[in-house]
Amino acid sequence: PVDGGPLRFAVVGLGWFGPDVAIPAIAESDYCETTTVVSGDRAKAERVADEKDVEHALTYDDFADGEAADAYDAVYVVTPNALHLPHVETAADLGKHVLCEKPLEATADRARQCVEACDEAGVELMTAYRMQTTRSVRWVRDTVQDGAIGDPVQVRGAFGYNLIAAGEDTDQWRLDPDLAGGGPLMDLGIYPLNTARFVLDSDPVAVHASTVEGPPEFDGLEKYCAFTMEFPDGPVAQCDTGYEVAGTNYFEVGGTRGRIRVDRPFDVDGDRRITVEQEGEETAVDVDEPSEMVEEFDYFATGVLTDMEIGPDGEHGHFDVRTTEAVYESAETGERVDL
Ligand code: NDP
Repeated sequence: PVDGGPLRFAVVGLGWFGPDVAIPAIAESDYCETTTVVSGDRAKAERVADEKDVEHALTYDDFADGEAADAYDAVYVVTPNALHLPHVETAADLGKHVLCEKPLEATADRARQCVEACDEAGVELMTAYRMQTTRSVRWVRDTVQDGAIGDPVQVRGAFGYNLIAAGEDTDQWRLDPDLAGGGPLMDLGIYPLNTARFVLDSDPVAVHASTVEGPPEFDGLEKYCAFTMEFPDGPVAQCDTGYEVAGTNYFEVGGTRGRIRVDRPFDVDGDRRITVEQEGEETAVDVDEPSEMVEEFDYFATGVLTDMEIGPDGEHGHFDVRTTEAVYESAETGERVDL
């Protein structure tokens, strides 16, 4: 048990991920509780509050006015990418810690403003990269860092899905450049991008990229993006993402003495498979996987309640958005872009 808990959350944005994935994970966690839900639609807020047994149902205006602010200690922001900043700023103004969904914002400038708002208010800001609490991914990171495959030299990662074949409405915020900040790179490509940084424990210094524009309903956004990130002292990560491919989802690190691959690392609570190849021998590794969402919320709460340093922080999330901008710049100019 952690003294002072549970950490009480206001969940801001009641689309898919907040009510269907995050609120159940909070309910299952040891150190967190949802006391407040916030929506643009009061009737929806009341319905979700009722269904999930949550005390306070607020609109975004109520939240900005500080209504029921005594009922929560932290804010989980789970709205479209370009609508993270106003809620992060409100939370910071109210002195609440913030767990903000990925990508931190739709532009690097707005992501930086999220970081500044929380720094100025003296509250924690964590970017909600759940793969950093995924046990398989953590196992890969530890194994690579321990030198089991020699020096990591080539990383490969991909995450994509067929949005059209999945029957999704093309009139949605993920295909609106103003709300999403980009195409599948912002939504999905950011997973291998960030996982490469996490597993290598290093930040890229340059990117080279290409994109393929989507159909007219993609409103100028790419349907495919491939990018290479160069890391200091040699490792290179090649990643790709798209909204047309069915279920591409893997991450692999090639080292000077072996290789580790995880299949399906990026699905929520996915069915993951790890394969390690050393000296020509392939071995399957079984890692016990609790829900990474529950781990993420409990990790954040423990950090806040015990005053522990929390990561990935806002600056870490800001770096990724800066990298996505460099990816788009490189795709447009055809040039390698330094970070
Ligand atoms: P949804 O489209 O399902 O829901 C977004 C919700 O945001 C809407 O239902 C709405 O809730 C609110 N909203 C406020 N303004 C707008 C607007 N102008 N247009 C559309 N919605 C609006 O999105 P998700 O829940 O899938 O994604 C939300 C965030 O979470 C994104 O940043 C996404 O990248 C991230 N995400 C992270 C995942 C992860 O695994 N970590 C997985 C999925 C998403 P209301 O009606 O209550 O105001």
